[in-house]
Amino acid sequence: MLTRPDTTVVAARPDRRPTAIVIGGGFGGLAAAVRLGARGYRVTVLEKLDAPGGRAYVFRQDGFTFDGGPTIITAPFLFEELWTLCGKRMSDDVLLEPVSPFYRIRFDDGAVFAYSGDPDDMRAEVARFSPADVPGYERFMGLSEELCRKAFEELGDAPFSRFSDMVRVAPELLRLQGLRSVYGIVSKYIKDPRLRIVFSFHPLLIGGSPFSASAVYGLIPYLERRWGVHFARGGTGALVDGLVKLIRGQGGTIVFDADVAEILVRDGAATGVRLTTGETVDADIVVSNADAATTYHELLPETVSRKWSKQKVEKARHSMGLFVWYFGTKRRYEDVGHHTIMLGPRYKQLLKDIFARKRLANDFSMYLHRPTKADPSLAPQGCDAFYVLSPTPNLASGIDWRREAEPYRRTIEKRLSETLLPGLDKEIITSRMMTPLDFKTRLRAFQGSGFSLEPILTQSAWFRPHNQSENVKNLFLVGAGTHPGAGVPGVLSSARILDKIAPDASCFV
Ligand SMILES: Cc1cc2nc3c(=O)[nH]c(=O)nc-3n(C[C@H](O)[C@H](O)[C@H](O)COP(=O)(O)OP(=O)(O)OC[C@H]3O[C@@H](n4cnc5c(N)ncnc54)[C@H](O)[C@@H]3O)c2cc1C
Repeated sequence: MLTRPDTTVVAARPDRRPTAIVIGGGFGGLAAAVRLGARGYRVTVLEKLDAPGGRAYVFRQDGFTFDGGPTIITAPFLFEELWTLCGKRMSDDVLLEPVSPFYRIRFDDGAVFAYSGDPDDMRAEVARFSPADVPGYERFMGLSEELCRKAFEELGDAPFSRFSDMVRVAPELLRLQGLRSVYGIVSKYIKDPRLRIVFSFHPLLIGGSPFSASAVYGLIPYLERRWGVHFARGGTGALVDGLVKLIRGQGGTIVFDADVAEILVRDGAATGVRLTTGETVDADIVVSNADAATTYHELLPETVSRKWSKQKVEKARHSMGLFVWYFGTKRRYEDVGHHTIMLGPRYKQLLKDIFARKRLANDFSMYLHRPTKADPSLAPQGCDAFYVLSPTPNLASGIDWRREAEPYRRTIEKRLSETLLPGLDKEIITSRMMTPLDFKTRLRAFQGSGFSLEPILTQSAWFRPHNQSENVKNLFLVGAGTHPGAGVPGVLSSARILDKIAPDASCFV
């Protein structure tokens, strides 16, 4: 019953909308919630942590704001669509600003490649490193465009539920050299060893090694050029907050500190979830944004048979781990760009250490984020907020991060002091770390991987866990471990697929 101030008593209309539970409030889960809400579902997001975002969780400490994960925002139309679905304009809530250059790629000898979306500037940068490679670079970008049109624009939100879906696209993917690795195709077109790195490192942004990720992921350079690289004013957390506002505006609910222990299944269909507290929540459909590997390994009842059996999950290749160090300095480093990729002395062998040998090397490559270049409000006045991310082996390596984290951090600090951030050790006033162990315990990431299943051909499209469970009716999956894969555009696209496969809300009335 609703009671109005004039004391007239009005019977509230019962909410007859079908119900959807979304497990996890990462970008995939939040986007799924908005889409289901727009389609008439009453949505409840159950999030294990005390705040939304998942990998995009925001840490606030000592006056600094640190975006926990994604910082490079590409394909912004995928976000704008979500606001449009709610009859709103994204620009009223979040301001996206283009970043240029996209990144500065710094080689171990100090040489820097300014990587941008401007074709003339890029041609000039390529020529500065190797004039003979300009025509090959142009041909590579032609292939990247074709890959982007096919694999991202056409197939990125296509459900690969049936094997025939894969068979249908296979000839085209073969024509586009999908059997090769990203490094393989780049090397076909570009000869200079440093340029080969510049145009092949992108799979690392989605959890893959350039030497084993399918050439299909060579689509990223064109995707970045086509839609740009953006920064959300206030940090990526502004996008998370914006989506939460949309969900609440639709009448959806987000419950924090709600750790799902089990997806409830009756007569072959998902009927709700049980939390670790023992509480159960019923729903007409369940969407898991929890790690796909963990969903199949831990969240389904033992009695439910599944294509992704425990053994299959254990044998699968999981992406690398990430060591992330967030720190604030009491001075500003004005010469440091917004996004810097700092390469170490080794490339192929370092990647072998990370992905194949699974050992923690003494050298490293890293990504340095300085959001306070664009938005000083993320740190106290006169200070800089940073994070540095270094790819490492995942937990299958057996690395004991309780012991290794601090020495590893110190080595990174020393390298940064010697290069881009002189005197760093004296300037740090706040600091925190995330290791693969935190990815496992905080986010329930299988083997503590940074990006869920590794993006190799045999774990892509139909070969990846499907967006619609093959075995359990009314169970759907979104997020990095399902099709099309990791990265913000990938997980937003996985939620887009729900529009094609989740039942219409009217089916339940
Ligand atoms: C450090 C870092 C930097 C990155 N940088 C970029 C970038 O610049 N650009 C880009 O595009 N991508 C980037 N990525 C990748 C991108 O962030 C991820 O692929 C994407 O955000 C993953 O979203 P998701 O929805 O799949 O899952 P997540 O963000 O992992 O969210 C899953 C959520 O589910 C919750 N959960 C798990 N299990 C349960 C359970 N049982 N019950 C309840 N809740 C549960 C977790 O707590 C989590 O909140 C980065 C990733 C990392 C880690």
